[in-house]
Amino acid sequence: MGTPGAGKGTQASILATRLGGCHVSTGDMLRDAARNGTPLGQQARRFMDAGRLVPDDVVIGIVAERLAEPECRDGFLLDGFPRTVAQAEALGRLLAARGQPLDAVVLLAVPADEAVRRISGRRVCPACGTMFHLAFQPPQRPDRCDRCGAGLVQREDDREETVRHRLDVYARETGPVLEHYRRAGLLREVDGLGGRDDVARNLQAALA
Ligand code: AMP
Repeated sequence: MGTPGAGKGTQASILATRLGGCHVSTGDMLRDAARNGTPLGQQARRFMDAGRLVPDDVVIGIVAERLAEPECRDGFLLDGFPRTVAQAEALGRLLAARGQPLDAVVLLAVPADEAVRRISGRRVCPACGTMFHLAFQPPQRPDRCDRCGAGLVQREDDREETVRHRLDVYARETGPVLEHYRRAGLLREVDGLGGRDDVARNLQAALA
């Protein structure tokens, strides 16, 4: 869990590589669907571009489908889900049916201004989806994807006013989810400020 720009995607990828498990990023799955122009992707894109949450039934459906894959049978890392109380409740039912309780919920804590600063430098390849950051992970050639050479763009939902809106949505919709997990004693708060490797170490310690 964490605001847009908290580093969820970066840290979840590092953790998933280390644990060797199934990494379920709803943001990545929705962006892939939008890039591929599937009906679901077209529907999702309208919400994402406006900085709004994609409807619960759509997101819950794709998570349930993904968790049913063999790779996710023994465990999984959820990144960017659940973001609403309804999603958390659906996840609870899904996990109860599988007999697999959550081990932990991690909150990557980053102040809003820092989140906006980080997001403004983010660039993505519209062709293959590879992410870059002008300051932290710059491409080798300016504005060109290292992997496929396509021109990099800013994510539609990474524009400053959309980001501010996403932060409001986070406080309103996701705040109560954090409270739910805090009360359940599952929430581990990790300072998301600092370099990628420092945060990864803190995260690892919080889960040890
Ligand atoms: P992210 O990359 O996690 O910041 O997600 C980017 C966008 O995808 C969000 O702003 C939402 O529009 C959509 N999205 C990702 N995960 C969810 C979710 N669990 N529920 C609803 N919308 C989501």
